[in-house]
Formats: sequence, C-alpha cells, structure tokens
Amino acid sequence: MTTHNELQPAVRPGKVYLIGAGPGDPTLITVKGLELLKRAEVLVYDYLASPKLLKYVPKDAKLIYAGKKGGVHHAHTQEEINQMLVDHARAGRVVVRLKGGDPFIFGRGGEEIEELAKYGIAFEVVPGVTSASAAATYAGVPITHREYTSSVAFVTGHEDPTKENSNIAWEKLATGVGTLIFYMGIKNLPSITENLIKHGRDPQTPVAVVRWASTPIQKSVVGTLTDIAQVVKQENIQPPALVVVGEVVKLRDTINWFEKRPLFGKRILVTRTREQASDLVRLLEDQGADCVEGATIAMEPPDSWDELDAALDRIGDYQWLVFSSINAIRYFFERLHARGMDSRDLKGPKVAAVGVATAEALRDYGIRADLIPREFTGDGLAESLVAQGVNGARVLIPRAKKAREILPETLREHGALADVVTVYQNVRPRDYEMVRQELAEGGIHMVTFTSSSTVTNFLEMLGADRDRLLAGVTFAAIGPITAKTAAKHGLAIDVQPASYTIPALVDAIVDFYNG
Ligand code: SAH
Repeated sequence: MTTHNELQPAVRPGKVYLIGAGPGDPTLITVKGLELLKRAEVLVYDYLASPKLLKYVPKDAKLIYAGKKGGVHHAHTQEEINQMLVDHARAGRVVVRLKGGDPFIFGRGGEEIEELAKYGIAFEVVPGVTSASAAATYAGVPITHREYTSSVAFVTGHEDPTKENSNIAWEKLATGVGTLIFYMGIKNLPSITENLIKHGRDPQTPVAVVRWASTPIQKSVVGTLTDIAQVVKQENIQPPALVVVGEVVKLRDTINWFEKRPLFGKRILVTRTREQASDLVRLLEDQGADCVEGATIAMEPPDSWDELDAALDRIGDYQWLVFSSINAIRYFFERLHARGMDSRDLKGPKVAAVGVATAEALRDYGIRADLIPREFTGDGLAESLVAQGVNGARVLIPRAKKAREILPETLREHGALADVVTVYQNVRPRDYEMVRQELAEGGIHMVTFTSSSTVTNFLEMLGADRDRLLAGVTFAAIGPITAKTAAKHGLAIDVQPASYTIPALVDAIVDFYNG
C-alpha cells in the first residue's frame, strides 16, 4: 500500500457498469450502453457480445476477454472475473462489463453485482435487448399476439429435463404459458420437446430455432414439437441458438423480414482505401449483406506540399480548379486550412467535380461545383471542360501522386495550361492478412472494386496465390475504367452498373442476386 500525503490525492473511486450488449447486431446496444463503452478504461467482455462493439472502446483501454463458450471453454472462471471487476474498480477505473443480450437474463449479472456489492464497489446496470426478443423478431415471430398467446416464458434449456427434482415446473410450463423461449437449449432439445409433449402440449405446436440471431450469419429452422429435434440435428444447428415454441411461430411466413432482405447470406468483400467514406458498406448492409472491409490501399499526404503551396499562392490566376476524387478534395482543403486560408480564397477559379459524390464533398466545404460531367469519369470530365472552351485557360488539378494522365493531357491538347499537383499518395496498408485469410477460407461470395487502384492493389496484395484465393468469387466494378483494369489483369467482371455511383453499384449487385 502506498500512503497518501496532501500532494497525492487518494485514488478516486472506480465504478463498474454492467452493460447489455444486445443480441449480436452491434447496433442493437442501447444509447446509454454505447456512451459508457466510449468511456471505458477497462472492458471485460464475453463471446456473445459483438466484437464489432470493440471499436468504440478508447484505444488505451485494457481489454479482457472473459470467454465462456457454451459453458465449456472458460477463458476465466467466474471467480476470476468477479475478482478482476473488484480489483480494477478499486484501482479507480471506469470498468465496463459487457455481456451478450441482457445481463440479468441468464447472464450471471446478478452474481457479479452481488460480489461488487459485497466489496462496496459502486455499480450501474444497463439492460440490453435479450437474444430471445431478437431471435423471435429477426426470425419473423412476434413473441405475443392477441390471437395466439398472451403470455411468454424465458426458460433455461441448460438443465436436463430428465433430472429428478428439476427447478422447472414442466407440467405448469407445458400448458400454462403461451410462448416458450429456451436459452441454451440445443443440447437438451430432444428431452425438452419430449417433456413438453409428455406434460400435455400439442405435439403439432410449431417451433423455430434461431442461431446467431440478428447477425449476418443468422440461421433459422422450423418444425413442430415432434420433429424439431430431428430438423436441428439434420441441419447441424449448433449453439448459440434460441428455441421458440408456440402458435406465434406460424406468423413467420408473413413476417420473416430479416432473412428475406435481398443480399441476406451474401458475404461481400469491399475493397477500399481505409479513409474512404464507408457508404458502400452501409448500403450493402441495408440490403442484408455481410460485409468484410478490406483496405487495399491507404493514403498519406505527399512528400512535400511545395507544389500545392505555390499554386495556392497564385490561386487567383486559375480559371478552373478541377477535382477528380473526394480524397483530393479532403487533402486539398486540409492543406488550405493548415495555411490559414479557407474557401473564400477560392473565389477566383470555377470549380469542376468529376461526379455527384465529389460535388457533395465540395459542398461540405461551402463550394458549389460549377461543372459536373454527364459521365462521371476522368474522360467525361475532360470532355465537359473542353466543351466549355479551355484554350489559354489555367487549370489546377490537385490529385493523387500516381493518376491517369488523360485529364491533363486532353486539356493541354485543347490549349489549356494544366498544372497537376500532388495532394496525396497511395500506399499499401499494413494489415491485409485478414483479407487473405477470409478468401482462403472460401467464405467470400463477391468482391467489389470502386477504382482501378483498388483492383491493382488488391491483386498485388494476393500475390502468387491469387487464383487459388479467388476461385468461385464474383467481381463487381463501379464503372468501365475499373472493369477494364480488372479485365486487363484477368478478372472477369460480372456486375457493373450503368451509371458510376455507389447506389447504382448496390442496385446492380441486388439485381445480380435477385434478377
Ligand atoms: N444474457 C443473454 C443470454 C446468455 S445465455 C441474453 O440476454 O441474451 C447464452 C444463451 O443465449 C445461448 O446459449 C443462446 O441460447 C442465447 N443466445 C445469446 N445470443 C444469441 C444469438 N445471437 N442468437 C441465438 N441465441 C443467442
């Protein structure tokens, strides 16, 4: 023990927040849970809490995996977990204990809190969406319905129903409650169903079993009390899964919305630069896809800003300022601002953007594009500028270090004085091992490319293994230039939208799978 003198204030007391992470879909955590997660200094989490939530935890927080898979593999014993919570809270830290679903529903949350209370540790509990609620909802089953049932029970299926002195009153449960939802019931499913029938439940009662509910790999099967155990065995449904018993399961045919989304069950690798806005991922996920984000390139500022600085010093001399990517805009404005300038300093030249997304990015900086070509490519942009008449015009093109020459060359051919300045450069990302692994495991159905450099960087990243890694994969490209680059490298593009935008690409992918 250290002693405290007046100059060393005593450690402020820590606190433990027991938080329900929700059932699997990371966006189903509560707002309060998320706010606290962002303040965590120590995070103790288990395997049912979505790993996707970890990105919200501060980088310098201590992460402790508590394990507990199927009650068999324990990374830490319950005593160890309790002790960790106590120790870290005593050391004055904000401790978040994150549990799948709701911490007080078969989550041992009560036991952990009792332990904290015993030591006088401050705590709060944040409820979560329990997996029973999510499993039913995401399998298209309303847990209650006025025409079918007015009561529901959450039951542990962990206890073997054949054991004597059961804690569960099977005879009451079987006929006394409308909807029955069993947690941890897969192993004992044959005896659970037998027991319900034995105690008077109609053998034809419909049953749904839902595995990994609310996640992109959700799988659900249906049957009756008589045959569901057989179905589960045939379909090899492993934990974690919920068993939903009751007449309400009949409504699934009408309500099953989650699994009916057009890209449900499709795992799509979105190759992109790390810094790019993740619109494509969001739109694909909206359609039910399971996205893997694979950064194939990362970006860095140029080695020197001299070129851009010189151009900015005489920005008033230019008639056109031309942007052919969102990244160029971002780096350009970052430098502009770093030099103490802002959008008002750009009032001289007219501004051209290669497409709608680029124009939108400009609007974020208070600039309305004067020109957007009909065709959203470098060629289209060059053509539109030429059509405006560029003879003798000074044109500034901030862009990537390595980029196609077609735009400046075309402009020069038509008498323009085109200045190309580097505002960023593409570099290889450090952690692409994950992507290779995903492909090697054969779980990826489709790879999307949104620029030529995503194609070349992706292939470079795969190296000599590429044919083995890409066997059976479908490729989608945002536009003709990207598709051409892919073709040049021996990749056949099966999906390509008519207009070169992210939403159009998503539509084309949906059509490809549902057309
Ligand atoms: N506190 C958790 C339950 C923990 S008990 C909650 O409120 O949801 C562990 C059991 O929960 C698993 O065996 C399984 O039956 C169920 N479970 C948890 N997450 C699940 C999910 N995403 N899909 C299906 N079942 C899940």
